[in-house]
Amino acid sequence: MTAIYLVAVGKVDDEILTGIEVCLWQTFGFTTRRLNPLPDPAPAYDPQRQQYSVIAIMKDLLKQCPGDAIRLLAVTERDLFIPMLSFVFGQAQLRGKIAIISLARLRQEFYGLPANSMLFISRALKETVHEMGHTFGLTHCLDRDCPMSLSTNIQQVDIKGETFCANCTILLRENLRQMYLGG
Ligand SMILES: [Zn+2]
Ligand SMILES: [Zn+2]
Repeated sequence: MTAIYLVAVGKVDDEILTGIEVCLWQTFGFTTRRLNPLPDPAPAYDPQRQQYSVIAIMKDLLKQCPGDAIRLLAVTERDLFIPMLSFVFGQAQLRGKIAIISLARLRQEFYGLPANSMLFISRALKETVHEMGHTFGLTHCLDRDCPMSLSTNIQQVDIKGETFCANCTILLRENLRQMYLGG
């Protein structure tokens, strides 16, 4: 039985990892296994931007991906960037094995607002579903309620729901069937 592997990059609270595990099971139907946390991604740090290169981290994750992994989802507190954007909430290989989400910009405190742990967890689950959706072949969805819609700011994350729209649900089912049931 294969699984989705979950790994913390640097220190990440257990509570959020457990929430993500439940979400992965409910959304994609795979059990998860946890890898030992990876060290803080210091080599990926860009001192000028004061952020971490998601490309560098993902290169490293490819080396860490267990042979029997359906997917490997990494979770980090570090703020991530790609060269063309000021930040990213996460990144994934389309139809590939590796995805990562950053928790850095998902807390209300980041925006100078009082903490809200329910909102924080909900945002993390939306970003989990979004990035994992990419690995299972889903692209950006025009339905703003759908977690596959593109979010470039936190308001757009909050508009979306945690469950796929009807179209994305059908696509996901079809993609999973083709990938794992040989149909
Ligand atoms: Zn996306
Ligand atoms: Zn959708």
